Parts: sequence; structure tokens; C-alpha cells
Amino acid sequence: MAANPKTLRILASHPEGSSARALEIETIDGSPLAPTAGKYIIVNTGVVVGEKAIKRAYSLLPVPGVPHRARLLVKRLGGPGSEVMHAAPVGTELSFSGPWGKLIAPGHDAPVSDGADAPRTLVVATDTGITTALGIALHASTLSTCRVLEVLWLRSEDETFLDVDSVEARIEQAGVRFVHAAVLPASDPNRVHTAWSHVDARVAELGAELVIASGDGAIIHPLRTRWALPEVRIECYFHNPEKKSA
Ligand SMILES: Cc1cc2nc3c(=O)[nH]c(=O)nc-3n(C[C@H](O)[C@H](O)[C@H](O)COP(=O)(O)OP(=O)(O)OC[C@H]3O[C@@H](n4cnc5c(N)ncnc54)[C@H](O)[C@@H]3O)c2cc1C
Repeated sequence: MAANPKTLRILASHPEGSSARALEIETIDGSPLAPTAGKYIIVNTGVVVGEKAIKRAYSLLPVPGVPHRARLLVKRLGGPGSEVMHAAPVGTELSFSGPWGKLIAPGHDAPVSDGADAPRTLVVATDTGITTALGIALHASTLSTCRVLEVLWLRSEDETFLDVDSVEARIEQAGVRFVHAAVLPASDPNRVHTAWSHVDARVAELGAELVIASGDGAIIHPLRTRWALPEVRIECYFHNPEKKSA
């Protein structure tokens, strides 16, 4: 387990699309962030509201060959966390904890047992949850033992976070198939039904044995009880029904 808290430094940044900022970060003490697949850090933004320190989770994307560096992709949402992550100049140091996360496909962190096949894995991402999918797909490309078959990105037509073409290029370059489908905006209570129908279709076609899902908790949280799959692993970025203020 990583020692916490630690400090990161922002090394470089650039805008992506109309609402995202890409940040390259490194740990000050040189401690590793890799392997980053499906993992995230919790950044202390330094903002205090009332008496509460504002801490937010951001998913890690690998910087190949440099374990103590990683990339973050942050969507500006108007809240205190993403505002700081967009405004912080290069050189800023922020404390963080992690890496955390349980969205590691078998074969990612260690080879599956001799003779055993890794499960046929479908990665489902909604909205900004695509950052987890990117981390998993980029890492999968370096391994021969995992079977991430496809990333399914469910995004609303008005989504401004990363464009489909750039995400598709990065995921397919990693050797993982990419499919995207339109869903209603996150504020629409009816979006879950179309989202589930897309997931159902991909699970059936791929014969998926494991679903790894990130993003809107209203869509992905119920996946754990929706199919008789051996395992569904989730990370709710927002609308987490297990949190009081989701
Ligand atoms: C494990 C994990 C990994 C995450 N990884 C990333 C990441 O890689 N990139 C990233 O940009 N964000 C990521 N998030 C979301 C991030 O932690 C913050 O919630 C987000 O930046 C909003 O923080 P805020 O303080 O700006 O807004 P808040 O004041 O916390 O939220 C403002 C409003 O936006 C809603 N909201 C929060 N996140 C989203 C979203 N993604 N889409 C639509 N509405 C949302 C909230 O429900 C709330 O109503 C992750 C969250 C988790 C739990």
C-alpha cells in the first residue's frame, strides 16, 4: 500500500477539447504511480469549504517508462475541485493519496495462473469515466495475459469532454476495440434504460465474463445485480448511490 499523503507536481498541461485539461504530473519523492491501469489518486485541492478540505479523485493514465509520472484528464465542471485542477499553473505542488482502485482486470497486475484464461473483459465507461477506460486500455497493450476485448463509451450528444476520434485513436492504437453509443444527458432520468440496452448488447455479442465500469453511478451501480456475470467491478465518478451527496 502506498504511503499517504504524498506530494505531486504539475509538470505540463494543455487543453483538450473545450472542457478538458490534460496534466502531466510526477511524485516529488519519486514514488511510483505505475501500474496505473484503472487506478486513481485523491488530490487535496487546497480549497477549504466551511471546515472541509476539498479532495477529488482523478484517474491515472500511464507515462510509458516513467513510473513516477502519470497523466490526468480533468473536465471543468464548475465545482471547486475541477476549477483548481484547471487553474493551477505548471509547477504547482498538491498533496494527494493513492494510487487507489480496484478496477484491475486479471492479468493486469500479475499473470493469471498457468493454463488459466483471463476472463473476456468488457470495459464500460460513461461520460468522464472514459479516463479509467483509457488507463486500462493503454496498460493492456503492454501485457499479453489480459483479454480486454472492447471499450464501450456511453456519452451524451452534448458531451464536451474529449472527442470521440481522439479517444478512439488512443484506444485502438493500444489494440483494444472501441465502440461508442449516444445516451441522454446525465441530468435525464431516462438515460439509464438506453445505456443498459447498449451494455446488454455488447455483453451478449462479446460473451463477456467480466465487466469493468466507471462513470455515472445511476447507470453502472445497478450493473452488479443486472446480469448473472461472474464479476462486475465499478467505480462511480458521480451519482454514487452509496454516498449521501452524489
Ligand atoms: C474514482 C474516481 C475517478 C475520477 N476520475 C476523474 C477523471 O479522471 N477526470 C475527471 O474530470 N473527473 C474524475 N472524477 C470526478 C472528480 O473526482 C470530481 O468529482 C469532478 O472533478 C467534479 O469535482 P468538482 O469539485 O469540480 O465538482 P463538484 O462540486 O464535486 O460537482 C459538481 C456537480 O457535478 C457533478 N459531477 C461530478 N462529476 C461529474 C462528471 N464526471 N460528469 C457529470 N457530472 C459530474 C456532481 O454530481 C455535482 O452535481 C473521478 C471520480 C472518481 C470517484
